[in-house]
Amino acid sequence: MTVIERFLKYVTFDTQSDESTGVTPSTPKQMVFAQYLKTELEDLGLEEISLDDNGYLFATLPANVDRPVPVIGFIAHIDTSPDMSGENVNPRIVENYDGTDIALCEAEGIILSPKRFPELLDHVGEDLIVTDGHTLLGADDKAGIAEIIGAMAYLKQHPEIPHGKIRIGFNPDEEIGLGAHKFDVEKFGAKWAYTMDGGEVGELEFENFNAAAAKVQVKGRNVHPGYAKNKMINSLLVANEFVSMLPADETPATTEGYEGFYHLIGMEGEVESTMLSYIIRDHDREKFESRKALMQDCAARINGKYGEELITVELKDQYYNMRQQVEPLMHIIDIAFAAMQEAGVEPHVKAIRGGTDGAQLSFKGLPCPNIFAGGLNFHGRYEFVPVQSIEKAMNVVVKIAELTAKRY
Ligand SMILES: [Zn+2]
Repeated sequence: MTVIERFLKYVTFDTQSDESTGVTPSTPKQMVFAQYLKTELEDLGLEEISLDDNGYLFATLPANVDRPVPVIGFIAHIDTSPDMSGENVNPRIVENYDGTDIALCEAEGIILSPKRFPELLDHVGEDLIVTDGHTLLGADDKAGIAEIIGAMAYLKQHPEIPHGKIRIGFNPDEEIGLGAHKFDVEKFGAKWAYTMDGGEVGELEFENFNAAAAKVQVKGRNVHPGYAKNKMINSLLVANEFVSMLPADETPATTEGYEGFYHLIGMEGEVESTMLSYIIRDHDREKFESRKALMQDCAARINGKYGEELITVELKDQYYNMRQQVEPLMHIIDIAFAAMQEAGVEPHVKAIRGGTDGAQLSFKGLPCPNIFAGGLNFHGRYEFVPVQSIEKAMNVVVKIAELTAKRY
């Protein structure tokens, strides 16, 4: 089986996760796919294969060198996004892409066009795997799974390539933010690992946001509007004052790169009481802390102005930038960097404007940068992945295994 054949097989499994079920895996269909993958790993002759009740599938490719080489891992997720159906995925390969519009569904006029998605033009001459316009593709993250298993198969066929013990792990529920929660880092037993879950070729990520959520509770005092002078406090208007005190140009819609933000994600209220929900994001830990402090400060100023405790801000940290966990071990980045270069890929280090399973794993003791899996336009009908990108990512996995062994 080639890595592309594997990928095309994997996308036939519907593995959509579901935020609402409260169980792990969040949907039984993810377990069906995990069980199938387990049989593939058995057929490949991998060892220490385990699939736990939560849908975490681990396996080992044993070392083929005698010297002590650190155990490394490769991780991908089995679920696909709840944002778009992953049922009856019907992929098609557009060979030798010529840079024009691709009709995903002729009958309904669903077009994948470089006018809307200019990144298509970076892949002219390549073979693009696209959808039929009615589902997502699932390259996020079945491309990652195919690349990892493809690389293990390749290493088995090429015993002349030296490598240490390699652990591979496939987890459910990444798309609902729960991929790392029940990941047994100790049982996985790797010194460090890489998630194969990034986008464009060359992506290498080891920085993500620090993240917090804030619930801003605003109290008011309702009085008949005809008799309200100097008595009524309209919590909706006080909430509006609070919103106006935060920097208007520090929102997701006005920031990029390393710029952090306050993001108002919900407001609900009436005269008597209003609730604002925010998320706060910043790569820099100090700036992150001062953003939280500013929210408390705004509340204090409003409370001071009214002479009563109208606003309370409840802050909860959600996750942190994995950079602080990875930085003491910069060789794991160096190895990935060198592996990409040896695989003919130009590395492109990028800060994630979000969180990853890798960040959570890093704080659970498994430093875990993220590497490209090759897919683009994730979570929707326009998702596609070039055949050549999957092959390059697979080669990067092979090279990381080889370079790690060569360094020890
Ligand atoms: Zn993903």
